[in-house]
Amino acid sequence: MKILVVEDEQKTSAYLKRGLEENGFVVDVAHTGEDGSHLAETQPYDLIVLDVLLPGRDGWKVVTELRRRGIETPVLFLTARDAVRDRVKGFELGADDYLVKPFAFSELLARVRSLLRRGPARQSAVLRLGDLEVDLSRHRAQRAGRALDLTPKEFQLLSFLLQRCGEVLSRTLIAEQVWDINFESDSNLVEVHMRRLRSKVDDPFETRLIHTVRGVGYVLDARG
Ligand code: CA
Repeated sequence: MKILVVEDEQKTSAYLKRGLEENGFVVDVAHTGEDGSHLAETQPYDLIVLDVLLPGRDGWKVVTELRRRGIETPVLFLTARDAVRDRVKGFELGADDYLVKPFAFSELLARVRSLLRRGPARQSAVLRLGDLEVDLSRHRAQRAGRALDLTPKEFQLLSFLLQRCGEVLSRTLIAEQVWDINFESDSNLVEVHMRRLRSKVDDPFETRLIHTVRGVGYVLDARG
């Protein structure tokens, strides 16, 4: 099993290389996004361990470019930022898993093994609820086999609802997680986007998936 580690901090990359090699993996290291992209495009890897914050081309750009070229190698992101927004962004781009720095090597090893068992990236990036299907890595949504024409923000909103389906989400939480803003004064933005999303996701179909919980927020579920 061959792993590419893209990490600009020399100490961390040396530590990862040594640890993974001790566990039987063959490891290449790149210290910039550009070098990482080049290696990933020209060599076959079973997995890429990709730091998000890299000088020059960052981890997001590296994975976007790889997926655009049809390279499906699973990616384990290393990130110092634990925001849900970042996780959503990563999954939209076709990443498979995240590890927040600092982490224990044993945790990294467990994630690496689990990703290698799971196989290519895109299989794990499709969320479903009833006849609704959202493919996070391809950035496509469909219902009952019909493609939904969503704006990027609507897609992000739907992905967030789907990742937390069955859970009642307040307007404030949605505003924070999807728009990254604090929204105590005006929740109109969420309502406006929710209305547009419903006109595409629910109105043309018999069963409603997006439900309003009066005075609280919204919940996505298939109760009808
Ligand atoms: Ca870094």
